[in-house]
Amino acid sequence: MSLSNLLKTKLTSLMARKLAVRPARLAGHRPVASISYDDFPKNAWTLGGPVMAKHGVRGTYYTAGGFCGRTVNGTVFYDETDLKDLAAAGHEIACHGFGHQPTPTLTTEELAQDAERNKEFLRPFLGGDAPVSFAFPYGRVSPRTKRFYAPRFASVRGVHPGINAGRVDLAQLNTVSLETRCWDKARIETEIQRTLHENGWLILYTHDVSDSPSPYGSTPEMLDWALTRVAAARIRVMPVCDALPVALGL
Ligand SMILES: [Zn+2]
Repeated sequence: MSLSNLLKTKLTSLMARKLAVRPARLAGHRPVASISYDDFPKNAWTLGGPVMAKHGVRGTYYTAGGFCGRTVNGTVFYDETDLKDLAAAGHEIACHGFGHQPTPTLTTEELAQDAERNKEFLRPFLGGDAPVSFAFPYGRVSPRTKRFYAPRFASVRGVHPGINAGRVDLAQLNTVSLETRCWDKARIETEIQRTLHENGWLILYTHDVSDSPSPYGSTPEMLDWALTRVAAARIRVMPVCDALPVALGL
């Protein structure tokens, strides 16, 4: 990316960040947490699933339909059987765009086509329903694309670091990374304690789960540690779609 494009991208995301498209005040009477996987690599289910089962929690899989059954740059992605199995186990199948493109690079017409394509792809795995939660691929947003997704989904997640508490933007929820590239136990523990004391909503996220994860993924032990700490704080873990009404105090 050229310097001028880089600056433009940074400025656009800064403007988008400042623009609250769906402002809300979280008025939960208790803290809540979610764990989510983006894209998603097959082992996020085959190795991440058992860790969640051990803790008795269900997660959210932000699924890009274009990755189904494929291996891209050495990453083996989920297939249709994985989607059936994780839905049967009560996990949430959420939307991450079909083509997994940075949304500001697509025209509004292309965004609509991509959203429709992923919705139709996911529908059979959702009992005929449409997905209700969305996460921006690469966390890339612009004011235009926030406005596009906000009315189409119950909640929209970005990758801006932090918990969600007090005044939030449901069109760009914050998240706390469990990725190897920024793994920091003290920071995660601080965010768990903040969630507890502010009755907030902690949304954890990662990609692959493996004993030798990519920089964007986690080991099963990292997931286990994070879920153990959340449980120690007595914070309930729910899929994003179920955590939203709890966080809003509904
Ligand atoms: Zn992604």
